[in-house]
Amino acid sequence: MTPSNGSMMLILSSPSGAGKTTLTKKIQQKYPNFKISVSHTTRKPRSNEIEQIDYFFISHKEFEEKISNNEFYEYAKIFDNFYGTSRNSVNELLKKNDSILFDIDWQGTQQLSKFKELKLIKIFLLPPDKKELKNRLVQRNQDNIAIISKRLKAYDNDIHHWSDYDHVIINDNLEHCFSQIEKIILSEKNSTS
Ligand code: ADP
Ligand code: 5GP
Repeated sequence: MTPSNGSMMLILSSPSGAGKTTLTKKIQQKYPNFKISVSHTTRKPRSNEIEQIDYFFISHKEFEEKISNNEFYEYAKIFDNFYGTSRNSVNELLKKNDSILFDIDWQGTQQLSKFKELKLIKIFLLPPDKKELKNRLVQRNQDNIAIISKRLKAYDNDIHHWSDYDHVIINDNLEHCFSQIEKIILSEKNSTS
């Protein structure tokens, strides 16, 4: 996996519900040369999710086969499910000289960081506080209360990983957060051109 033309590989991580999905989609809309890396997962699809757009939804057995066949650049077990970035999807994007957006957790970020030849830009998003995180998870209206509790429980551990990242941004006001991400993208673009 070698981005040859100054393509960027931008990782967004955060505690669940802080706004990664919203922001990745916003970045892709404004900067079409960024493509979202679509992960594989054993999680069941939410009512608003689309196969191959949000995830490749596969069974545990299929996921384990892919692990055995070394098909992932990175994978992790998160909230009782597996999530992984397939080599094929990333390599296809790199062949087209696209920049790539990864919505992955801190475990996946640590694994991708081992590829020293990659130009990774790592951003960690935080919610203003845990109460607001809970509001967002509830208002998203996609997970039941048991799942929301599990995600909130993970928050205290998740936030310790901020120091693995190049930038930490608080997603309080969405537009403000987006403009901070844009500044990072533009400054990286200028430094590579
Ligand atoms: P993640 O992908 O990190 O789990 P989402 O992008 O799904 O988080 O966001 C969780 C919920 O919070 C969504 O309903 C989204 O619309 C909302 N949201 C995202 N950013 C903000 C913000 N800055 N202010 C208020 N609500 C937000
Ligand atoms: P969700 O179930 O809310 O879609 O995602 C749960 C967590 O899994 C989020 O932190 C998200 O960033 C992470 N995630 C999604 N895809 C991947 C992946 O391919 N690899 C890793 N390591 N984490 C992922």
